Amino acid sequence: MNRIEALAHHVEGLFKELDDDIARFSGWSGIHCAFGCGKCCLKPDIEASPLEFLPFALEVHRRKEVAIWLEKIQQAGATCVVYDEHQPGAGKCSSYLHRGMICRLFGFSARRNKYNKREMITCSIIKDEQSANFENAEEKINDGGEIPVAADYYARLRGIDPGLGAQLFPVNQAIRTALETVDSFFYYESGHPAG
Ligand code: SF4
Repeated sequence: MNRIEALAHHVEGLFKELDDDIARFSGWSGIHCAFGCGKCCLKPDIEASPLEFLPFALEVHRRKEVAIWLEKIQQAGATCVVYDEHQPGAGKCSSYLHRGMICRLFGFSARRNKYNKREMITCSIIKDEQSANFENAEEKINDGGEIPVAADYYARLRGIDPGLGAQLFPVNQAIRTALETVDSFFYYESGHPAG
C-alpha cells in the first residue's frame, strides 16, 4: 500500500466509526433523511477538507477519470460537483460510498453552542417534518444521549494528516485539491501517470 492509499485507508477507517456512531444515533432518535432528498447538497456554502475527499479522489484515479472530474469542477458553480439531480434512490450523491465527512455529519451530529449545550447540526426539513423526534433528540443529547460530535471527528481527521485535513475550503475546491494531490502523487512519486 503506498502513502496515498494508506492515508485514504485511515480516512475510511474513521468514516466507518462515524457511520457506526450515526447508525446508533439514528437508531435511538428515529432521525432519518427523507427518501430521495439530497437538498443539503445544494447548499452553496458547504465547506470540506481535501483529506475527507481523498477516498473519492483515489476511486476517481482508479477509474482513470481524474481529468474528467477536474474539467467538471472547472465548469461547476458553487454546488457540489458530485451532486446529481437525476440520481434515482435515497439521495442525490453520485458517489455516496466515497462522500466526504461533512456529508456524513450533516443532520446526524452535534456542536456545542455558546451556553456549552450540545445542539444538533441539522436541516429545516428534519426539524419541521420530524419535529417530535428532533425535540426529543435535542433534549436527550444533553442528558448523555450518544451523538457524533462534529468537532471531535474533525480533530481526528486533522490527526491523520494536518496538511490535508486542517483547512476547510468550498467543497469543489476541496475535491479539486484531493484530485490534484492524488494525481501528482501517482505522476511524480510512483511514475504511474494518473487517469
Ligand atoms: S459529496 Fe455527495 S453527499 Fe457530499 S455534498 Fe457532494 S453530492 Fe452531497
